[in-house]
Amino acid sequence: MLVSNQKIDLPILEEKGVTLYLKREDTIHPHISGNKYRKLKYNLLEAQKLGHNSLLTFGGAFSNHIAATAYAGKEKGFKTIGVIRGEELKDNWHNNPTLNFAHEHGMEFHFVSRSDYRRKNDKIFLEGLQNVVGECYIVPEGGTNALAVKGCMEILTETDTNFDFICSAVGTGGTILGLINSAKPHQTIWGFPALKGDFLTEDIRKFALNDNWELVSKYHFGGYAKVDANLINFINTFKKETEIPLDPIYTGKMLFGIFDLIKKDAFKKGTQILAIHTGGLQGIKGMNLALKKRNLPLLDV
Ligand SMILES: *Cc1c(COP(=O)(O)O)cnc(C)c1O
Repeated sequence: MLVSNQKIDLPILEEKGVTLYLKREDTIHPHISGNKYRKLKYNLLEAQKLGHNSLLTFGGAFSNHIAATAYAGKEKGFKTIGVIRGEELKDNWHNNPTLNFAHEHGMEFHFVSRSDYRRKNDKIFLEGLQNVVGECYIVPEGGTNALAVKGCMEILTETDTNFDFICSAVGTGGTILGLINSAKPHQTIWGFPALKGDFLTEDIRKFALNDNWELVSKYHFGGYAKVDANLINFINTFKKETEIPLDPIYTGKMLFGIFDLIKKDAFKKGTQILAIHTGGLQGIKGMNLALKKRNLPLLDV
């Protein structure tokens, strides 16, 4: 799968002598975008090999992974079941663009309370679920497992070895693990967590084969899916200037962080940065509905 690296031309980059490219993983597929495509690739092959007919996975109401699994599952002939966080959605998921999309592509929902959802990796909970929905191949939340990391090791290619820094948004950590485990020793990986909390560092350290990485944890904007007018304006301006759309939950926060760090001279003159556009654009519709309710500026589409 060949994905292009797009050079970003903006005055601040010229002024600071920093080169920035975006790897357009968002263009991999119209509906299975970015890292979710990478993470599902070997999992779907494994499910096929094991003879499963159904996939079961987990996600919240705006989950890119839920949308991607529904689409990819249908394409490959699997029945898909989504365990969705939030019982209150049971009666009004029709108002949610992500869940509507997943449903249109054949996903069956199983709504659970937040406390049950927290048991998503618990063996007994999973057995109970399978008693209800039938046997199935279980893809963890965010699609992250060893096969997902294997898929994400295919993001970087031989032509990317010139870059000094590789940057990626971080959710569950699967994507950055793929980058860490496939980067060259002279490259530094910076992850930008989209959520609050330090637990990610430990999770990543357990599976990282190298220590050439760091999490830059101050650009989460208050937590997962939290946004403010400043972030929305940044994303809209970036789109106007580069014609590249960013999502508000992951890639928007990462690039906001990268530009803030460039302004603060965190990178030496001559540094070459490759930022991964991990996709997630399906989430814009749902975010705009939420922004409208809060009287915040909307994302340009
Ligand atoms: C899911 C997602 C991430 C986070 O990936 P992890 O492997 O869970 O860390 C980053 N960016 C986008 C657009 C995503 O949809």
